[in-house]
Amino acid sequence: PKITLHMENEKTLIHDFDLNLICDYFGRLERQGPGSPESTIRALSFIDNFSNELNIADFACGTGGQTMTLAQNTKGTITGLDLSPDFIKKFNTNAAKLGLQNRVKGIVGSMDNLPFQNEEFDVIWSEGAIANIGFEKGLNYWKGFLKKDGYIAVTYESWFTDERPNEIEKFWVNAVPEIGTIGHNISIMQKAGYSFVAAFTLSEKCWTDTFFIPQKAIQKAFLEKNAGNKAAEAFVEYMKYEAELYSKYKQYYGYVFYIGKKI
Ligand code: SAM
Repeated sequence: PKITLHMENEKTLIHDFDLNLICDYFGRLERQGPGSPESTIRALSFIDNFSNELNIADFACGTGGQTMTLAQNTKGTITGLDLSPDFIKKFNTNAAKLGLQNRVKGIVGSMDNLPFQNEEFDVIWSEGAIANIGFEKGLNYWKGFLKKDGYIAVTYESWFTDERPNEIEKFWVNAVPEIGTIGHNISIMQKAGYSFVAAFTLSEKCWTDTFFIPQKAIQKAFLEKNAGNKAAEAFVEYMKYEAELYSKYKQYYGYVFYIGKKI
């Protein structure tokens, strides 16, 4: 009932929460969004030259859960970029712990204003984040930084059906205004100048085991640290509500990995 209040009067959206608070919460987790090493490796398997020395970028890398998996399954270099200095600090610590610091480097930056050269990368990766710039805008803008025949691999919130109940429609249209069906998204990718390589749905475990279950374990400590902070309480309620919605409506939506090749 608690969060339903927030949602019904449509006052609290994910975008309304302070970035520091979001980073405090998600920095406690190994991953900041749904995903898994298996799905990262599966997406990588569609990249035909992935055993070569590649120059890879991971936009909105967070603390680097998926980046380290990428690094352990490829050669060459990976640059992770994220808006949050806290996440990048943790990212570089994680890379060093795994002995990957010579090949994997995190830098602070925004994915809509990239500090890279034209056609610098063989592969552009981004899990759980392209909605922040917009699927269509991101695919178009990022293409300039990819070599010809380079690959893009992103996960993006997607509808699994043409219609869905109002409650879930409202939640996701608020969070991701452009959210569309898989067919629609593939067509956007093709219009942006990529040939379609593959798309697959992230399994339920990518949401539960990586995302919702680890959150349960950190919510108490987060609330203790931010005791008396109403925004922190509302944020936890929001995240609990997202988990509730997922268990109720998971047949209608999820994350889909989209893999394309620059033409
Ligand atoms: N890729 C990571 C993963 O899957 O665990 C993190 C995904 S998390 C859902 C979204 C990430 O996007 C956060 O790390 C956040 O700091 C980052 N982010 C949001 N807006 C951004 C922007 N404009 N440029 C770069 N990173 C951004």
